[in-house]
Amino acid sequence: MYFHIILTERCNSQCRYCYEKSEREFGEKLNEKFKFDFSAPENSEVDVKELRKFILKDKEPKIIFYGGEPLVNRGKIVEIMDAIPEAKYYMQTNGKLLHELPSEYMNRFSKILISIDGDKERTDFNRGKGTYDLVLKNLDLIRKNGFVGEVVARMTISFSDGFTDLLKQVKHLFEIRFDSVHWQLDMGFYESDYDKKQVEDFIKKYNEEVSKLVEFWIENMKQGKVLKIYPFLGLFDSLYHNTKTKLRCGSGYANYTITTNGKIVTCPIMNCIKDFEVGDIKKSNPNELKEISVIEPCPSCSYFELCGGRCLYSNHAKLWPEEGEMQICSTIKYFIEEMKKAMPKITELIKQGLIHEDDFSYEKYFGPEIIP
Ligand code: SF4
Ligand code: SF4
Repeated sequence: MYFHIILTERCNSQCRYCYEKSEREFGEKLNEKFKFDFSAPENSEVDVKELRKFILKDKEPKIIFYGGEPLVNRGKIVEIMDAIPEAKYYMQTNGKLLHELPSEYMNRFSKILISIDGDKERTDFNRGKGTYDLVLKNLDLIRKNGFVGEVVARMTISFSDGFTDLLKQVKHLFEIRFDSVHWQLDMGFYESDYDKKQVEDFIKKYNEEVSKLVEFWIENMKQGKVLKIYPFLGLFDSLYHNTKTKLRCGSGYANYTITTNGKIVTCPIMNCIKDFEVGDIKKSNPNELKEISVIEPCPSCSYFELCGGRCLYSNHAKLWPEEGEMQICSTIKYFIEEMKKAMPKITELIKQGLIHEDDFSYEKYFGPEIIP
């Protein structure tokens, strides 16, 4: 089981699509949809002995440090890693404070996901001037100090910022030596940002970019290289092995979140929402946590067995009007169809021995959402 641990609500960045939009959204209709409980402290007050007792009831505990920015609360990272050496560790970070964590701890992470949106212009536009250079400097430093785990670029693509050059940005992230890439479309997470025409224009260009990226992926395969582009790996896995999927991020059944006061919710984004609370580390058993699943329209959708429902939060919150939700789904359907079209070419390359099916294997549920 995977557990996100929210170490702090604080963040040392004020990104356009997170901080700015959250500020605007506060006080709107979300209160009518869900019951909130804002009593959790800003920094994690979870007792590590209790946490250890809870986590070790799971046979293969996996801990993902999360925030705010988890490295703002480095003391708790050290405390938890000292107390629970048996767990496998991951972190979702903005990368700005990576140099502050002693390498004896840094080097124990299996994978880290760094929020970066592409080249310097794009990343600094979204995440603040100087972010790109600082992140790359820190990345070089941790690698020099012996970090050998996977470094995943975690991109956010916003329909509202006018950029749609997915191919260029993904290529760039591989060029600057990220091991893998995934992206999430910033669509359907805030009620106040929906603009039908803007979304329509974005989708047209975005879909074209998805097609170009699939082509680029296959071109690399012809050279014997399968790039770790997580959304593609996830879809390939289901199509090649002809399997059905549940919600691909694992939230609510394979992946839960421990809040700063030890409550258990389905995903970090549901942090303060009582409707998604399923337990408490003091009383619950990780093997008996309640499952929360996606609701209609997903289970009746003809793409459900390949899509899985995109996002548990967005599926329950339904923050955009129905036509907006359908626009989001149109990107997923397009993406799935493009992957279906690519499968015969990929299968042929596997048959020719240029690549092997094992090159596509990937770890599920540690962070990349798969369906953007
Ligand atoms: S395509 Fe849309 S409606 Fe269909 S399963 Fe995915 S998120 Fe749900
Ligand atoms: S895709 Fe999954 S992990 Fe991401 S916000 Fe939605 S429910 Fe949470």
